[in-house]
Amino acid sequence: MHGLKTTGYKAGLNALYWSGVHKLFAPHARGAGAILMFHRVRPAGGSRFQPNAHLEVTPGFLQRVVERAREHGLDIVDLDEAKRRLLEPERERRFVVLTFDDGYRDNFTEAYPILRTLGAPFTVYVATGLIDRTAVPWWETVVALIERTARLRLRIGGQDFDLPTGSLSERRAAARILVRELCRVDEDTQRTAVDLAAAANGVDTQRMLAQDMMSWDDVRALASDPLVTIGAHTVGHYALARLRLERARCEMDASRDRIEAMIGVRPRHFAYPYGSALTAGEREYDLAAELGFATAVTTRRGVLGSKSRLTALPRISMNGHYQSTRYVDLLLSGVPIALERQIRGWVGKGPSSSAR
Ligand SMILES: [Zn+2]
Repeated sequence: MHGLKTTGYKAGLNALYWSGVHKLFAPHARGAGAILMFHRVRPAGGSRFQPNAHLEVTPGFLQRVVERAREHGLDIVDLDEAKRRLLEPERERRFVVLTFDDGYRDNFTEAYPILRTLGAPFTVYVATGLIDRTAVPWWETVVALIERTARLRLRIGGQDFDLPTGSLSERRAAARILVRELCRVDEDTQRTAVDLAAAANGVDTQRMLAQDMMSWDDVRALASDPLVTIGAHTVGHYALARLRLERARCEMDASRDRIEAMIGVRPRHFAYPYGSALTAGEREYDLAAELGFATAVTTRRGVLGSKSRLTALPRISMNGHYQSTRYVDLLLSGVPIALERQIRGWVGKGPSSSAR
């Protein structure tokens, strides 16, 4: 799914690394701090069909990121402290915030023990429907559907698809087509299509949820540690910009109410599902402010500075395709982002930003 582009982007990053140019530029490019984005943290799987591999890193890589950030003289801080430092960036030490999206169980079982040992604060943005088992991470269901079929037939918004899914290349092609088509239709059509296909092909989404996502007991256990901040990430994990205003507002507000009801702490921070320009924009940034969130994060790439808008904060994705210390050094320097136009010019579009 990302093969060629990833290879090209890596070549660009390598050229940049060996040129040493990032060290020269870094003081100007790196900003006051950065918010790092993770999803899953688990040991590397053996399968060659992993269309969501960009959304997961290994526990060892997570540990290296924290250690490396500290070696760079960066403090690991929580979002409240980051907000405070952003108001006076020139007087404060540079910082990094660690964030994890969605509420995957491995955040509790794999990431938490490491971060507790390192004394590193972090935030988990929880989509409450995933914890209540009323919403399904459709991108995981698509993988399960392709893995258990040799030929996948499904209907998406009135259009029929009949995709071979026997070989590795067929599986990769099917994943590419399905993700593209499922992001084209409206949010309810998307979910209906995936749910019907899951039911027709014996994919047990409730079992997937129980296996992959945290329970409320897990969330409560995390929240009881002062190192951990629980943020809101909507109820149903819909692309907010594609919902009508009232529904978008309700998704944001209701997730905060639900988390407060279940763990006793009202979330002050929010992450937009998907977080790209097409899925969260001005209307959503205003909504987050109106609802009183102290900060809200996107998945747009960037470092933080005094001009950062608190309800449209950029992040740096810790992409599973880039798990080396060299890339961490580069990303923390802020230079690849400052020079992204040039890098894009050399090698194409750069790594996929298709976060969830
Ligand atoms: Zn998400």
